[in-house]
Amino acid sequence: MNILDGKKVSEKVLENVKERVSSLSKKPYLNVILVGDDAPSKIYVNNKRKAAEKVGIRSNVIELPSDTDEQTLLDLIKNLNYDDEVTGIMVQLPLPEHINKNKIVEAINPGKDVDGFHPENVGKLVLGLEPYFYPATPQGILMLLDEYNIQTEGKHAVVIGRSNIVGKPMAQMLLNRNATVTVCHSFTPNLDEIIKTADIIVSAVGKKIVRCKMVKKNSVIVDVGIFRDSNGKLTGDIDFDVVSPFCDFISPVPGGVGPMTIASLMYNASKVYI
Ligand code: NAP
Repeated sequence: MNILDGKKVSEKVLENVKERVSSLSKKPYLNVILVGDDAPSKIYVNNKRKAAEKVGIRSNVIELPSDTDEQTLLDLIKNLNYDDEVTGIMVQLPLPEHINKNKIVEAINPGKDVDGFHPENVGKLVLGLEPYFYPATPQGILMLLDEYNIQTEGKHAVVIGRSNIVGKPMAQMLLNRNATVTVCHSFTPNLDEIIKTADIIVSAVGKKIVRCKMVKKNSVIVDVGIFRDSNGKLTGDIDFDVVSPFCDFISPVPGGVGPMTIASLMYNASKVYI
């Protein structure tokens, strides 16, 4: 069994991003909008700010109160879209319930949509065209697989979870790389049977889902899930101790997909389209 070391690979990616940023004539300027007081969101935003600083990307965090109305947020995004200095815009999710998330995502200029969630970027991804930005987590996972020379072509990839930010784009990106993809979700019967046939498993659920040792020999397991167990310890979807002896590669939690997501986001933030 080999570890997919996201911490190590992310440092390499960040080094490359830093070098790329230093060579750019027009410097990237990332703007992150945070609405409300959600504690985990504040931590994520702060991590992004620190990562940007590390690679030399100028960043600005715009904090708005939780009762900010939708129009105020739309107006702010419009201003950032028109601001030639601003090269990247991110709206931290989740947003308060009174704000329509889809409307907000659609308002961002696709060429500044560093999260890659805008319908134009998603549509291009699905059509096999080059979007301005790929969503950070699946892009980071592919960077991790590439670093370990793990081939996807002709492989059976099982993606567990179908969120718009991880599961769906991951499935599409693996399909674009000529994997045969099965997407599983909460209505999928016989998940264990499907897992047994997978060459590559990407699990993005948020609870313990792969406990069995019935993974295919030589399989590659990527654990996206991250949550606290009953003892308050950070853990992932995969029962690492049980499953790891039976697979070829596995990503740990923490230290796997998490740091790759941040590095991949910084890679996106370093791209300048205006
Ligand atoms: P999400 O929106 O939380 O949705 C979870 C997905 O899991 C849904 O598609 C759901 O199916 C599916 N699911 C739930 N129970 C299941 C079961 N018993 N069997 C099979 N599928 C099941 O997904 P997300 O936002 O992608 O987040 C998933 C996890 O990844 C969370 O722990 C999150 O914190 C983590 N995450 C980590 C990173 C990182 O950088 N490390 C980034 C993003 C997310 P339905 O669609 O049928 O409800």
